[in-house]
Amino acid sequence: MSHSKVNLLGLSPAKLEAFFDELGEKRFRATQVLKWLHQHGASSFDEMTNISKSLRTKLAEVAEIRESEVVFEKFSTDGTRKWVIKVEGGSSVEAVLIPDGARRTLCVSSQVGCSLDCSFCSTGKQGFNRSLSSAEIIGQIRTAIRSFGPFDPAGERRVTNVVFMGMGEPLMNFNNVMDAATLMMDDNAYGLSKRRVTISTAGVVPALDKMVGLTDVSLAISLHAPTDELRSQLVPVNKRYPIKDLLDSANRYLKSLSDKRVATIEYTMMAGVNDQPEHARQLVKVLRQIPCKLNLIPFNPFPNSGYERPSDEAIAAFKQIVITSGIITTVRKTRGDDVDAACGQLVGQVDDKTRRSQKYIPVIQEEVSRDKSFHF
Ligand code: SAH
Repeated sequence: MSHSKVNLLGLSPAKLEAFFDELGEKRFRATQVLKWLHQHGASSFDEMTNISKSLRTKLAEVAEIRESEVVFEKFSTDGTRKWVIKVEGGSSVEAVLIPDGARRTLCVSSQVGCSLDCSFCSTGKQGFNRSLSSAEIIGQIRTAIRSFGPFDPAGERRVTNVVFMGMGEPLMNFNNVMDAATLMMDDNAYGLSKRRVTISTAGVVPALDKMVGLTDVSLAISLHAPTDELRSQLVPVNKRYPIKDLLDSANRYLKSLSDKRVATIEYTMMAGVNDQPEHARQLVKVLRQIPCKLNLIPFNPFPNSGYERPSDEAIAAFKQIVITSGIITTVRKTRGDDVDAACGQLVGQVDDKTRRSQKYIPVIQEEVSRDKSFHF
């Protein structure tokens, strides 16, 4: 009988219980193992000292704790840390920890590359390879915690918030993202509040509909434009699921939650594209349709993107219009850009199956060869 071993790292609490059920073991073993894996960071069964030797041996026969390899860790001068993590198959993904006062937000990747091809996102330009397993997603929080230890000297958690805003579209990897998010919010695992774990989507409406009743994670929507005409140019998935359908679905999800929660609307600002006062006024009308707060993200440049960041004045004027209408608005600080860790700069190393990246490689190489400081 050649069964591949099940990797316990990615199993949600319910799946871990089912696993012990099948083994003919008591369900409380699931709680013990969850704590070992996610609170103590165990990477072998031998460390699980409250589990009998014989059960540990049995576990090692049918299961494993398989982790991705960290290729390197980079430290930004502003305290941001970035990890490049090699996943099976040879590609790599990136995770970023962004400290901001007492808040320490980990930005995790959900896919190797991305299939949505948004026009201003460098991950999209890398093409797409595959979705990450739940173990590979949860492995990113383990990596971050291991790099610091779980608590700081004041006894506070090292990772206080998680956002699914790294590489990939989380709702195109639905089941694995849900399992990973469940682990992040489970008290026997990472114990983060549902208000501090946020799934960000470019608008995969059928998947968003499926979240109702299944999870109560927080929601961010990458809107980036106030009209369907403009949004379809920037975020191609909008042609399938236009703004109204997306907001209707998001509203149904918010209503399904037991507490009063708002969606975070993300709006990446590009000079001359979506940053004009007229766009701000149109956006106000759109945002009246959903309880939300707005997060403006000044565009982070990458080679040959074809876009530019708006001036500070243009951003301030835009913000003023939206704030005056009563919508809570923040401008995202650019963090970690000295280590290419800012929004839209996470590229990893994608072995692209879509061949989309080939369209871009020639221009990037041209750029590099013009730069005399760069030698092959
Ligand atoms: N696919 C999901 C998760 C990725 S989130 C989503 O679209 O929501 C990454 C966030 O950074 C998104 O809001 C995205 O639109 C934004 N972003 C992408 N490229 C960017 C860039 N070059 N500059 C600034 N923000 C960017």
